[in-house]
Amino acid sequence: MSGTTHYVCPKCGQPIDYLERRVVRRKGRDGQVHEHVYFYAWHFARGPNGEILYRNVVRKCYLGPDKYVYANVIQGKLGVQVRGPIQEIVEGRPLIIDYLEDIAKVIEDRMAKGQMSAHTAQQLADRCQGLTDRLRQYAQQRAVEESKARGDGQ
Ligand SMILES: [Zn+2]
Repeated sequence: MSGTTHYVCPKCGQPIDYLERRVVRRKGRDGQVHEHVYFYAWHFARGPNGEILYRNVVRKCYLGPDKYVYANVIQGKLGVQVRGPIQEIVEGRPLIIDYLEDIAKVIEDRMAKGQMSAHTAQQLADRCQGLTDRLRQYAQQRAVEESKARGDGQ
């Protein structure tokens, strides 16, 4: 029913009825035991109006690890953490903001340490400038559309 906030499964688009957090301990190549966390969305049987019929799991969707461990080894060089869709679901914050925040930190850090060439800095600045202008325009347009979509009652 409307009024209830559902987390939507990024795999199948259905509401998530239960979020399973599965912890697996495994010995890594470094000989240490590492903890890996994986998430599964549980979907219960639903009627035609979306109501839960019975609390039997009809489907589980694998949502991925809380972090993409192996990708992080590569991306870690750049200081960008690869994130799973779970953050988006649980924290309700778009992944894109986290990624951009990571990139911004790397840029700030490299500038502070003088590790970036003038050429690279100029390229980044040009890219960001164009993007910022278009983002502001887009945000204004969308704000108008979104307030219309919310209805006149609001
Ligand atoms: Zn699903």
